[in-house]
Amino acid sequence: MSDKYDVIVIGGGPGGYVAAIRAAQLGYKTACIEKRINKQGKPALGGTCLNVGCIPSKALLDSSWKYHEAEEAFADHGIKVGKLDLDVKAMQERKDKVVLQLTGGVASLFQANKVTWLQGTGQLKANKQVVFTPNEGGDEQTLEADNVILAAGSVPVEIPPAEVDQKIIVDSTGALEFDSVPKKLGVIGAGVIGLELGSVWSRLGSQVTVLEAVDTFLPAVDKQIAKESQKLFTKQGLDIKLGARVTATKKNKNSVRVTYTDKDGEHEETFDRLIVAVGRRPYTEGLLSQDAGVTLDERNFIYVDNQCRTDVPGVYAIGDLVRGPALAHKAIEEGVMVAEVIAGEHTQVNYDAVPGVIYTHPEVAWVGKTEEEVKESGEPYKVGAVPFAANGRALAAGEAAGLVKFVVDEKTDRVLGMHVLGPQASELIQQGVVAMEFGASIEDLQLMVFGHPSLSETVHEAALATDYKAIHVAQRRRKK
Ligand code: FAD
Ligand code: NAD
Repeated sequence: MSDKYDVIVIGGGPGGYVAAIRAAQLGYKTACIEKRINKQGKPALGGTCLNVGCIPSKALLDSSWKYHEAEEAFADHGIKVGKLDLDVKAMQERKDKVVLQLTGGVASLFQANKVTWLQGTGQLKANKQVVFTPNEGGDEQTLEADNVILAAGSVPVEIPPAEVDQKIIVDSTGALEFDSVPKKLGVIGAGVIGLELGSVWSRLGSQVTVLEAVDTFLPAVDKQIAKESQKLFTKQGLDIKLGARVTATKKNKNSVRVTYTDKDGEHEETFDRLIVAVGRRPYTEGLLSQDAGVTLDERNFIYVDNQCRTDVPGVYAIGDLVRGPALAHKAIEEGVMVAEVIAGEHTQVNYDAVPGVIYTHPEVAWVGKTEEEVKESGEPYKVGAVPFAANGRALAAGEAAGLVKFVVDEKTDRVLGMHVLGPQASELIQQGVVAMEFGASIEDLQLMVFGHPSLSETVHEAALATDYKAIHVAQRRRKK
């Protein structure tokens, strides 16, 4: 096979592997360079998301939720299970099996679509040349392509006072691999990872303390939803300390002493394990040679336009490497968009309608603008918020915590934002995405028929509530 490709993708995560498959579907001779070696010592596709991110974390979230339900909720349903036994090793093996099934599935999709998987490291040079260094050693090869898609993803941010050793002080990857339940678990950062992985180990019995530098809980989330979720997570046992800045850690053989400061001064606490989850940064190390020509922005993201073109014609960058939320589905849609743009199509990701989800229980999900953002814009708006406590299906399932909220343009009736805290929020939010994608008015949602009994009826009621027409809650006109 010659070393000239129509498309070379560097990185085989959700952005890169999807871009490669779509490019191949469009008839391009495509290669994807991925260097990852998985924990079984084998080359693996799927990137952060499938190997050490979205999928293993959700596997553990689901397992730990089942354990929690058996422990706390079954009795309520009249189900007695006797003394519970937890087998962390089996739980981890199940998670690993799910990961292998999915990453193996991507490899099969590459075969089926005739994408060449080059196992090793890629580096972009000038003139769309890519230097490929095989994992297994051997000579470097210089490959050429008409189009190069950079999809190298991101890595965890590190902070000097808490250096990760993946034993006592771990990042998200280490926190997915504990072989026993830490008695006392510290988490630095009350963001998405801190809350999800904190929840996993808390459900399994850890006493979890979350140290968050900022004074506000989930500042990017609609305030009403953030406030409500903070109450629920605290009730579940997460000790969330806001305005807490870690200044030092001291490790012992099996524990770590953490020093942090907050408005009351300096404190010390000892944990068996400490998770550092303070954000992720674009992974550009070794990706670009000096003459590559692509520009980085001030935060080290690769600079791209709204269709992911870099400053070098024919070179694109997608996913966690570029601006916007660091989410798998955003990376996926950018991968599709770039392959189609290469083919001369006019695909555009709707960045205004990218949903966000935190997979706690209940889940938190949102799309579009928060009430605070709309208020700040000065445009007139209306809001409808309805609790799941008014929903028969939620009550029947014992899942009545949380609410659905719409933020709507008062002049045009357009849906500007939807926010959910509640059961299956990750699924319900898609109704808001569809509404926004189609430019729906809130009246469209009000006039639709929703199956009964279903959780979606709370979406309907929240839509009705924006015009004080909700049936199952007593509404008072609210002041803005
Ligand atoms: P990545 O998935 O990071 O893939 C990039 C790949 O490129 C890597 O495999 C890397 O080995 C490879 N690579 C890098 N440089 C080179 C090179 N020079 N040569 C060859 N290969 C290279 N997002 C969600 O939407 N939902 C979730 O539930 C979710 N959960 C998460 C949970 C955790 C614990 C973490 C850490 C992240 C989670 N994310 C989630 C975020 C999600 O994983 C990322 O947004 C997504 O993986 C980004 O995709 P990507 O293709 O841009 O990069
Ligand atoms: P994050 O940005 O969600 O949260 C990091 C938190 O750490 C913030 O609240 C920040 O204020 C805090 N922080 C920063 N520095 C700190 C310090 N020195 N001390 C204490 N707190 C500090 O980042 P994350 O939780 O690490 O997740 C990284 C990214 O991965 C997310 O932005 C998200 O895009 C992605 N992710 C998504 C999902 C999902 O979609 N469900 C799940 C996990 C991760």
